[in-house]
Parts: sequence; C-alpha cells; structure tokens
Amino acid sequence: MQQVPPDEGESVFPPNDSPQEIETGLWRIPVPLPFALRSANIYLLDNGAAGWAIVDSGFGLPADEAALRAGLAHADVSLDAITTIFLTHAHPDHIGLSGTIQAASGAPVYMLAREDQRMYDVWSADADPSFEAVTAMYAANGLPPDEVASSATATARVRRILRLPRRNTVHLLEDGETLRLGGFTYTAIWTPGHSDYHMCLLRDDNVFIAGDHILPSITPNIGLYPHSRPDPLRDYFNAIQRVRDLPTRTVLPGHGRPFSALAERVDALRIHHEERGAAVLDVVRQHPTGISAYALASIIFGGRLRTSDDRRFALVEMLAHLEYLCGEGYVAREDLDGQIVYTTSVQTPASRRL
Ligand SMILES: [Zn+2]
Repeated sequence: MQQVPPDEGESVFPPNDSPQEIETGLWRIPVPLPFALRSANIYLLDNGAAGWAIVDSGFGLPADEAALRAGLAHADVSLDAITTIFLTHAHPDHIGLSGTIQAASGAPVYMLAREDQRMYDVWSADADPSFEAVTAMYAANGLPPDEVASSATATARVRRILRLPRRNTVHLLEDGETLRLGGFTYTAIWTPGHSDYHMCLLRDDNVFIAGDHILPSITPNIGLYPHSRPDPLRDYFNAIQRVRDLPTRTVLPGHGRPFSALAERVDALRIHHEERGAAVLDVVRQHPTGISAYALASIIFGGRLRTSDDRRFALVEMLAHLEYLCGEGYVAREDLDGQIVYTTSVQTPASRRL
C-alpha cells in the first residue's frame, strides 16, 4: 500500500481536489482514501471509437465509487464506456474498484506479468488467511507482538473492501510491449521498487503515466516483504534512472497533481534515499552489538510513527535500506535465535582498536 512517509506530513494534497481535464481526451479523477495519503488518481484516456481506457481504480470503498461515478459524469463518460483497464501495480489503493468497473463494462485488465500473481496472492478474499510469512517477518525484525497481531487484522479488512477483476480477464504485458489506443501508442515500462512488477506507461506524444514510481511531493514507499525481490531499493534506484531522461512533457502520478520536471524529481528522490541510507548507517554504527530494523525505525522516525500503518511501513522501508547496505558491504545481517539484527560488517570495536 502506498503511504505518506511519517516525516513528510499529511497535508500534501490540496483540499477540494476535483476532476481535472488535463487536455482533450485525458482526465484525472481523484478518489478519496481512508488514510493519510488522502486521495488516489484514476486517469481516463480517450480510446476513440472503442470508448475509454482508465489507469488504476482507487480503493474499493463506496466513497471511491461515488467519486469515480461523479468524475465520469463530469467528463460525460458512462461507466460501461470503459473498455480497457490498466493497473500500474497491485496495491489496494490502485486496484480496489477494478472489479466493479469490469462488472459494468466487461473491460479487460492490462498489467505487467507477475504483478497479477501478487494481486491475487495477497489481496483476494480467498488468499492465505494467516498472512504467516509477513507476520513472521515483522516479528523477527522487532515489531511488538500486538502490532504483529494487528497487521493480519488490517490485511483481512482491506481484502473485504477490494473488488478485484476476474482472473481470466487479466492480460499480462511484458516490459517494452506496446498497445494502440485512441490513435496513440502506449509502451509498458517495468519499473520495480515500489512494487516488484510496477508498470509505467509512456504514450508516444510524451505523456508519461508514472503510477507510484515517481510522485510529485512525497516519496514512494520502498519496502522489503518476504516474497518480494531481494533488494527493492537497488531495483528502485535503477528504475528511476531508467525513466529519468525519457521524452516527457507531462507526468501523470498515482497521487497528487500532474507535473513536468521528471528528471529533477528523479534526482530529488534519489538524493532523499541516499540521505536516508546515510542516516540508517549512522545509527547502525552507533549500535556495535546490532540493532533490529524496528528499533532502527523508532530512532529514525521517532514520534512521527503515530499509527500501526506508520510503524509497519517504516519497518519495511528500513529493511529495504538495510538490505541495500548489506549489498553494498556496509552492513551485515545476523540471526540471533530468530531475532534479526544488523551490524556494521567491517569489524568489531575490539578488532578496530588493534
Ligand atoms: Zn502503491
């Protein structure tokens, strides 16, 4: 799930956001979210005689559906005119109404191959109810037991809200694959980091659909999970560099308003993560006998971890940084009877004195 990092405030989106015609045949419809991020964008793209395509589908609450219906009415588009659904990634605030839209229009869903597996494995109503691997990972990395227990409850609650598309209607795209819609060519671009098989789309008139890969005023959460690729922060650094210099006149983010300065935003995101990594390494160095990822998160974020969601997102973000630093050789992971701690990898304080 997307989050607002605890250090970046809650008021990043302007109040009274409303549907916006970005240019002819291209609409942004913000829908509300019940957490700090406050809203997610659904984009509506003219598909000529074939109707309309949408990118992403908000969360699945009645308020999302009402906002989507109001936005479509504003754009004078009926729900059953939506003939194509793109999903940039399988986070709840992007997939929630896809099944509802599909039920009205029969539209097929397009997403990158393997992101579909994550969607059904994690978020379908009949998915593993124990959520065992994730809760075990939280516990091993220091999350307090009551928080571990509440994480499974929170996941079950989200599963009940989401309306996923039927499995046999999902068309899987590969990196670099193109689709023709409404006289334009759209190219799918694999952009891992925020999710493993996150997809951006570049339209051949230089409109860049960014999903949550690049956001205008907040930092996309990069977190490590048990079944995710092993080094998501390294993936993310590579994937933001990959899109940095694309020919782009408008960037359409998954949250917030469209913007144009893609390269500047990529550079700012890279610097943010580099600075965060340096702060993480400093704290690890101050704990020569090792520190858990959760203790580290508590030091880095302090009182800004107000909710259970904040604490879990901070933990997985710390894990992504720590595993990146392990890969760079600065930090080592140690398993102490099932409790994982991180230390500086070079030497102990005693050997350093020799
Ligand atoms: Zn997301």
